[in-house]
Amino acid sequence: MTEPSVFTRIIDREIPAEIVHEDDLVIALRDIAPQAPVHVLVVPKDPQYADVAELAAGDPALLAHVVATAKRIAEAEAGGEFRLIFNTGAGAGQTVFHVHAHVLAGGLEESRLA
Ligand code: 5GP
Repeated sequence: MTEPSVFTRIIDREIPAEIVHEDDLVIALRDIAPQAPVHVLVVPKDPQYADVAELAAGDPALLAHVVATAKRIAEAEAGGEFRLIFNTGAGAGQTVFHVHAHVLAGGLEESRLA
């Protein structure tokens, strides 16, 4: 058995987080180290997908729901425009291997892809 991810522990209410949305399929919470005025993580509750490539191959409808949730959060918090990032692999900066979308919004006009 592998250890539950930090996101599974948040879903299970073992550790606290600022949750902005939850439904049967996903949870959305504010990143603990925000990189933009709005920085929310949208996380499928199913822990079996380590990254977005696995999710896209295994459950494309769930990936679409992650994107739709990101859009709703951006509409509620930042006028509907947003950047969606899926770090995929340690070499790309992924640190939690439970797939999650970073929703970044607000004040990004000057910020191009790094
Ligand atoms: P990754 O580096 O895997 O793309 O993204 C993981 C994200 O999870 C990071 O941006 C990090 O700040 C966030 N994170 C890690 N641990 C916690 C936590 O305990 N609570 C919250 N809210 N965010 C976390």
